[in-house]
Amino acid sequence: MSEELPPPVPALFPARELRVRLDDLLTRELAGAGERVARGSVTPTLDMARFRRELAGFDFHTPCPIEPLLEWTIAQLEHGVTHMTHPRYFGLFNPAAGFPSQCADRIAGAFNPQLASSGSSPAPVEIEAHLIRAIAQRAGLPAEASGHFTTGGSEANYTALVCALTRSEPRYSDEGVRAFAGPLAVYTSCECQPAWFKIVHQAGVGRAALRLIATDGQGRMDARALAHSVAHDRKQGRVPVLISATAGTTGGGMVDPLASCAQIAREHGLWYHVDAAWGGAALCSDRLRGLLAGIELADSLTIDAHKWFATTMGCGMFITRHPAVLSEAFRVRADFMPSNAQSLDPYLNTLQWSRRFMGLRLFLALAAAGWQGYAAHVERAVEVIERVKARLLAHGWSVANDSRLAVLCAVPPPGHPGVGDIVRCVRASGRAWVACATFEGREVLRVCATHGETSLADVDELVAALTAAV
Ligand SMILES: *Cc1c(COP(=O)(O)O)cnc(C)c1O
Repeated sequence: MSEELPPPVPALFPARELRVRLDDLLTRELAGAGERVARGSVTPTLDMARFRRELAGFDFHTPCPIEPLLEWTIAQLEHGVTHMTHPRYFGLFNPAAGFPSQCADRIAGAFNPQLASSGSSPAPVEIEAHLIRAIAQRAGLPAEASGHFTTGGSEANYTALVCALTRSEPRYSDEGVRAFAGPLAVYTSCECQPAWFKIVHQAGVGRAALRLIATDGQGRMDARALAHSVAHDRKQGRVPVLISATAGTTGGGMVDPLASCAQIAREHGLWYHVDAAWGGAALCSDRLRGLLAGIELADSLTIDAHKWFATTMGCGMFITRHPAVLSEAFRVRADFMPSNAQSLDPYLNTLQWSRRFMGLRLFLALAAAGWQGYAAHVERAVEVIERVKARLLAHGWSVANDSRLAVLCAVPPPGHPGVGDIVRCVRASGRAWVACATFEGREVLRVCATHGETSLADVDELVAALTAAV
């Protein structure tokens, strides 16, 4: 029997010189693709039939050389996605990722730290905790506020519900929702982000528990209707547990009356959550943060860095003024886990166990740009939308939403084709990407500034594409 171990698998662990060469190749090829994307079509141009044939060719029996494999993959992404990195993607809240956050992915990938515990990753865990405190402070939460990075807003909102249930009924942790005296009720507006339906389903609270409160004609939760609904449910023997106000609705970028909702939550002893997944970035701007007044009253907050903070995907935040509730909700004993008494272990305070170093994306970006850099970034997006709005109004369009954030719900001039047809036509042209949405029951064309480098020429091109389609 040989003394030697078999050699490492070279396809997985190539020699150092090859790695360096491939790293350079990636840097070069990605930069080139990025430049071509910005000049080309926003929408996918891939021949899907051909792509599927090529994909089927990967039977995983014959190993492929890595270099052509990387080139093939970049080409499929260059042609096979709607490009968030295109300056005329005026789409959903998906950003072109800022450069520091891309560096973060590379660094995190290279070290691949395990952020489950502070014992194995003392420095990363502290970096994330420091950053969460800074954002919490910016939102006006007390110094003891804490939280963590999540995969996104959905996980953060789910965490809010788990915290609400845990705090409102001590027996919930052992007995589940049966521990409550009656059917539960969770409140948000009818303009809420629809992941709430999945959240109440998953949490065992049930979809019927979700109360979609009417809006005020401008996409904001009607506080009087909310107060009425909570009181009515109580009288009927239901158990209200959570109010989630939205600060920056998905459809129209509207902000619910945060202080009034907080007041109602306080009166009834409910957990008060503010879902600022997208709009939370406005906190960076002294000019815009006043729009979120009342956010400081929240028991918990959702803010996605992968939206208006423009980090790479999969970077949300959950922040709470009650860290002890998180520790109660996610407590577990695992003697095999390394730990560090000075610091909070993420696996003991969050939904995830194995955890990527997500927070580095926002850390590098915020450290490099500062609050002022992010202030300029969000104010610029608002300015882009102001310009789009002024041009469309001049072409006879009207505007349905009265948002001061970077989303426009536009209505074409009378006698136009339907919004769906206009959107299809603009997308088919490849000149820009815009969305269809409903705002207060009305079909609208939704334009959102998501790219930090959109120029006035891009605004003109968008408006030209829209006016050509009506
Ligand atoms: C995007 C969004 C969510 C969902 O967040 P993900 O990061 O996509 O999981 C929830 N609420 C609001 C208001 C959002 O804009």
